[in-house]
Amino acid sequence: MKRLVVKVGSHVLSEQNRLARDRITNLVSLLHQLQDKYEVMLVSSGAVAAGYSKLKLDKSKLENRQAIAAVGQPYLMSVYQKKLASYGLLSAQILLTADDFDSRKRTSFAKNAINTLLKNKVIPIINENDTTATQELVFGDNDQLSAHVAYYFDADMLVILSDIDGYYDSDPRQNDGAKLRTKVSEILDEDLEIPCDPNHAFATGGIATKLKAAKFLLDLDREMFMTSGFDLSIVKSFLLEGKQTGGTHFCKECM
Ligand code: ADP
Repeated sequence: MKRLVVKVGSHVLSEQNRLARDRITNLVSLLHQLQDKYEVMLVSSGAVAAGYSKLKLDKSKLENRQAIAAVGQPYLMSVYQKKLASYGLLSAQILLTADDFDSRKRTSFAKNAINTLLKNKVIPIINENDTTATQELVFGDNDQLSAHVAYYFDADMLVILSDIDGYYDSDPRQNDGAKLRTKVSEILDEDLEIPCDPNHAFATGGIATKLKAAKFLLDLDREMFMTSGFDLSIVKSFLLEGKQTGGTHFCKECM
């Protein structure tokens, strides 16, 4: 069975400072459907958004964001747990930091645990361990984290579900004439020189971090697919029917 990492961004998971429960319901239904064909891991943002609905501290301070995330992470997991349970599925929480990927020994322990979970149809739900991540060794965005998860835990593809339906030749929010790039086989260094411009209070990435994730994977001969996390029809056709009806497929051989 092929192995997938699905990464979902905070914009998709939250709405007006709280969790967007309907979207989480749709996401969990997607994960359940994908399990017929794939082993599935989820990298989920949303801990800060989930925590902020309970503990409203000033998000501009790092220690406050860490505190909010610490409140939000178990709350977010409880939402996933309940929704997955309605399909008879179990979830598992895995919190990682960038330095977990520095040590082959640590990566191999995490990989054994993940393999065991997947063998038993449990969905690992992965996030950065915000409270212990140090300034120097921090992914800082789940796009980078999910690319590392995909590579080190042997996934065939990373699927990024974002607030935008793919990678355009310029920012579609600034430029009406922006065109969707459906296939991308190479990311040039100059493509990465985009200012970091996440357009949401809880977002940390923007398109630049998604392109970095794509470059990391393309250089290692892995694939990435980026599409909307609001309307899941495109990701469903792509992964379940093998038809690309939208989104951007980053793939060395697919041009
Ligand atoms: P997420 O919360 O899913 O991680 P972000 O909001 O961080 O998503 O990043 C996606 C945003 O990046 C888009 O909504 C869009 O405004 C912006 N963006 C800038 N340039 C581009 C581009 N060339 N193609 C697509 N999106 C772009």
